[in-house]
Amino acid sequence: PASLAADSVSGRVRVAVRLRPRNAEELVADADFADCVELQPELKRLKLRKNNWDSDTYEFDEVLTEFASQKRVYEVVAKPVVESVLDGYNGTVMAYGQTGTGKTYTLGRLGDEDTSARGIMVRSMEDILANISPETDSISVSYLQLYMETIQDLLNPANDNISIVEDQKTGDVSLPGATVLEIRDQQSFVELLRLGEAHRIAANTKLNTESSRSHALLMVHVKRSVSGRDDEYPLETQNRSNLVGNLRPPMLRKGKLIVVDLAGSERIHKSGSEGHMLEEAKSINLSLSALGKCINALAENSSHVPVRDSKLTRLLKDSFGGTSRTSLVVTIGPSPRHRAETASTILFGQRAM
Ligand code: ADP
Ligand code: MG
Repeated sequence: PASLAADSVSGRVRVAVRLRPRNAEELVADADFADCVELQPELKRLKLRKNNWDSDTYEFDEVLTEFASQKRVYEVVAKPVVESVLDGYNGTVMAYGQTGTGKTYTLGRLGDEDTSARGIMVRSMEDILANISPETDSISVSYLQLYMETIQDLLNPANDNISIVEDQKTGDVSLPGATVLEIRDQQSFVELLRLGEAHRIAANTKLNTESSRSHALLMVHVKRSVSGRDDEYPLETQNRSNLVGNLRPPMLRKGKLIVVDLAGSERIHKSGSEGHMLEEAKSINLSLSALGKCINALAENSSHVPVRDSKLTRLLKDSFGGTSRTSLVVTIGPSPRHRAETASTILFGQRAM
């Protein structure tokens, strides 16, 4: 319905779905079968096949086919959030989906071999760098992994148990002890991402787990000094641009962008997992369902967003609701063999709208 789309555009949660192309294995194994979904991007609709003659239809804010370029994905999913961060608001871009459907491809690709392949993290920084003045403004970055309710610093593996502190008055979230690096150019940022990824692999080898079982969070703080809007100054100085100078001091704009590469959403079948695997699965289910509840609350304009239930949602607390913008991309694969997981991913996205 039109009202639904209008609501989500006006600022709560924007939800896009992205289909990745068939991979080499699927091209062979699924050769005789149709994809489990059919996309109608102009109508912003997706059809999920129930059987050969019937399907369910879902609407999204944006429907990105296997032909959508990384540039287009950035523009529809992340650019509006990055723009509001430059204006001094907080914002979140998240990717949700089964392992192997393109979350990291969408968010984290560095694209050094081919710049058209660059993902949302790299493109966001490029946009931010292009819009700040190095003399007066600053960008600083932290990169974290959240695994089994423990926060690890991907920029300094020695920090393997970071705590979350909330400011009683402002509600702002801070992470004492987490590495914060100042970014001055694109190259240092790409190096930082590379370092973080290497530490992530090392940490997960040590823990004997896979990257897909943890959440990765990139936090970008942007501080800008800009001339304010007229209504930010005392009445007597408004609309008198000839009186600039010290009557109209620059205004500080502080925004925070969080890009979240979520753990794989696939259910680990309880019968098949025990011990550590089961604990891991429970922890992922806990954080993803807590996230789902918060996003639903935002989508419904509820005054209560239940952020306390997991570390993931506590980390995102000051980037949810209020003046913050949230953009969610749900990633799916085409294989009819993964229809059930695809259906569950689509439903997660639908509940967010
Ligand atoms: P996830 O992070 O969700 O587990 P990945 O981003 O690692 O998934 O993607 C799995 C594989 O599919 C990778 O080899 C990746 O290069 C490929 N892939 C994902 N999305 C696309 C896409 N839109 N176009 C081409 N290849 C893709
Ligand atoms: Mg991944």
